[in-house]
Amino acid sequence: MKNLIGLSKNELNAELIQLGEKPFRTKQLWHWLYHQGETDFSEMTTLAKPFREKLSSLYTIIHPKIITEQNSKDGTRKWLMEFEDGKQVECVYIPEEDRGAVCISTQVGCAQGCKFCHTGTQKMMRNLTAGEIVGQFMTARDSYGEWPTKTDENRMLSNIVVMGMGEPLYNFENLKTALNILMDGDGIAISKRKITVSTAGMADHIPELADLGVKLAISLHAPNNEIRNQIMPINKKFPLEKLITACKEYQARCERRSFITMEYVMLKGINDSPENAQELMQLVKGLEVKFNLIPFHKWDGAPFEPSDMQTIKNFSKILENHWFAAPIRRSRGEDIMAACGQLKSARDKKEI
Ligand code: SF4
Repeated sequence: MKNLIGLSKNELNAELIQLGEKPFRTKQLWHWLYHQGETDFSEMTTLAKPFREKLSSLYTIIHPKIITEQNSKDGTRKWLMEFEDGKQVECVYIPEEDRGAVCISTQVGCAQGCKFCHTGTQKMMRNLTAGEIVGQFMTARDSYGEWPTKTDENRMLSNIVVMGMGEPLYNFENLKTALNILMDGDGIAISKRKITVSTAGMADHIPELADLGVKLAISLHAPNNEIRNQIMPINKKFPLEKLITACKEYQARCERRSFITMEYVMLKGINDSPENAQELMQLVKGLEVKFNLIPFHKWDGAPFEPSDMQTIKNFSKILENHWFAAPIRRSRGEDIMAACGQLKSARDKKEI
């Protein structure tokens, strides 16, 4: 049976028209699915009973299943979620003061093979469907009991970062459908300004993110092509010149001023020198950016060492002296291994 989660409003409308229903039914059903978070047709009391019975004989409403849930001392909550075919991804809630962001995945595994990233060591299995992308956020809401959709001011799960497993822009059509569902004001209603899509640099689709109105983060991690080619294979296809041009186009197409976050993992002796900081500032000339310096978390078999904290502070200072925001990312959920890809790997190891 077909899962209704992940159908765009037009697709849902087409399904209902095929069943001989009036268009206003789409709005009612959408409200149950995405505003109420209801998963049982029989509870949809504003729909006529015969219609509910017809729906339950033809469709399902499935949110991803939680396989494990871990809670960190600092409030980070991390889930391993499973889809209907048994494939699993990680999803994390990261609190910031009284609210926070849910980090969602777009692929099972990742084909990009960035050398510093644990997910890069896991085989790419498949793209997630739009329903599986939206479903992660819905399961996170289930976990916090945040249904029906609360007002923007009252909700805890206030932001979304598309920064989990996989390269979102290599699953662009499903990502777009999922974002449109997440942003729809009649349902989950996350404002576009509260959604950030992070890419390793698939330049072709970057400008289109401006049309969706979402924020952009780049996994940059290197100040020049030589270093980036060594640590991120995607750079051979989309070298920095192409990436920076795409970022400029994104900013030109944004309706409002929108800073791009440049993620930069600090790798000892690789990309952390004062000269690298100078090069980095040259590289982003003409763009409005903020940096996010990420201390590297060493995992088993990682080919790099973390930079010393003093080196990271010096790097940050150089950037800040030139008026760039360059905070050092606080480590979150370290006690539950909240770094990219680690929960799934820990479980895979146990199963071997
Ligand atoms: S950093 Fe992102 S794109 Fe690179 S291997 Fe990890 S998940 Fe894939």
